Amino acid sequence: ESRRPVRRTPGRPGAMRTHTPATVRNLGILAHVDAGKTTVTERILYATGVTHKRGEVHDGTAVTDFDPQERDRGITIFAAAVTCAWDSHRINLIDTPGHVDFADEVERSLRVLDGAVAVFDAVAGVEPQSESVWRQADRHGVPRIAFVNKMDRAGADLDAAVDSIRRRLHPAPLVVQLPIGAEGGFTGVVDLVRMRALTWADGAEAAERGPVPEELRAEAARRRHLLEEAVAERHPAALEEYCDRGTLGDGTLTAALRDLTRSGDGVVVLCGSAYRDRGVEPLLDAVVAYLPSPLDVPPVRGTHHGEERERAADPDAPLAALAFKVQATATGRLTFLRVYSGTMEKGDTVWDATTGRGERIGRILRVRADRHDPLERAVAGDIVAVVGLKGTRPGATLCAPDAPLVLEPPGTAEPVVHVA
Ligand code: GDP
Repeated sequence: ESRRPVRRTPGRPGAMRTHTPATVRNLGILAHVDAGKTTVTERILYATGVTHKRGEVHDGTAVTDFDPQERDRGITIFAAAVTCAWDSHRINLIDTPGHVDFADEVERSLRVLDGAVAVFDAVAGVEPQSESVWRQADRHGVPRIAFVNKMDRAGADLDAAVDSIRRRLHPAPLVVQLPIGAEGGFTGVVDLVRMRALTWADGAEAAERGPVPEELRAEAARRRHLLEEAVAERHPAALEEYCDRGTLGDGTLTAALRDLTRSGDGVVVLCGSAYRDRGVEPLLDAVVAYLPSPLDVPPVRGTHHGEERERAADPDAPLAALAFKVQATATGRLTFLRVYSGTMEKGDTVWDATTGRGERIGRILRVRADRHDPLERAVAGDIVAVVGLKGTRPGATLCAPDAPLVLEPPGTAEPVVHVA
C-alpha cells in the first residue's frame, strides 16, 4: 500500500488516502462443492503472492503482525476475506460458504461483494448447487464471470459445459478463450480478445504469451467471429461498429465485454485448470478488466428513521459500513467490515446502528494470505477486519454518530464463528 502515491483527503486535514476505490475488486468465488473453489482460491493467492515473494520492496512502514500460529491454522482459507494484489489492483477475496446450510451467510457475503467468479467443473458442467448459488447471485444483481475449471480432466469438454450453462442458468455466454490441447495435454488457452496464446509449463514463473499456434488459427478465427456476433447482438455501440466494418476492434470488444458483464447482459466464459501453476492468471486479468469496482455499482441503500437513504462510495461522505462476519482468531475477535461510504480511522468512535451503541475502532487490519497488515484507516469500497468491537454482530451497520443509517434490518445477527 505504502508504495502507492498518496494524496490529501479534502475536508479531513492530515488524512491521506492510499488508493482509489476504482482499483478495488471485491470478489467472491461461487461454486458447487468439489468444482474446485478451494484449489482456485489457493492458486489465486499463490499467483498474487509470487510477486511479493520475488522481491517486491517494502519500505518498512507497513509493520506486519504476522503470526506463524495463524498461518499454521490456515487463515488463508478460513478468513472471511483475504486481500491480494494483481496488476495494480487490490482484490478482496470474500469467502462465500459453498454449502446451502449457510444460506444466510451466502446472502450476506453476496451483499458485500461487487462481482463473482462462478467455478464449474469441465466434466460435470452445471450441478444442482451451482444453480442455487447462481440464482442467489441473480437476486443480488452480482455481475459474474464463469470459469470452467479442470480442463485437464479426462472427459473435460468446454463446449458441453458452456451449453449446460446456457441451458440451465440462461445467461448469454460470451466465450473468450479456446483451449490448447485437451485433458492431460491441456497446456493453455488462446485469448480470443487479443488473439494470442497463453501457455503455462509446469513450474513456470509466469504464463508465456505467444502467437496463436498454426493448427488452431482457423478455429480461433471462427470462434472470435462467434464472440463478436454475440457481443454485437447485445451491445449497441459494438453493433454499430460491427455493421460498419464487419468486425470489432480489440478495444471495442473489451469495452463491450466489460459493459455486458457489469449490466448482467452477458457472462464472459473462461476455461483453465487450477492444477496448472499459472492456470488462473488469465482469470485474474479478466476480474480486473471486466468486473466492477465499488464505484461502478449502485450506491448502497439504508434507512434512517424509516426514511430511505443512499450512500455513494465516497471517502468524504459519512461513514457507513456493514459487519458481515465475526471470527475469533489468535489475533483476537476480528469483525470483517465492508466500508460502503466514508472513511474509518483507527481510534474512531463509531455508532453501531443495530445495537444503538458506540463502538471504538481498535485496530484496522488488512488480512493477507500470510499476515495481517495494520492500517491507519479504511475508506469507501474497502473490506477490512477490525479488532476491538465489543458488541457488533454480523449484519450490523457501523456509521458516523452524527449520520446514523441502518443497512440491514436488525434481528438478523448471527453468533460469533470460532475458527479452529
Ligand atoms: P471445492 O469443494 O469447490 O472447494 O473444491 P476443491 O478445490 O476442494 O477441489 C475438489 C477436488 O477437485 C479436489 O480433489 C481437487 O484436487 C480437484 N481439483 C481442483 N481443481 C482441479 C483441476 O483443475 N483439475 C483437476 N483434475 N482436479 C482439480
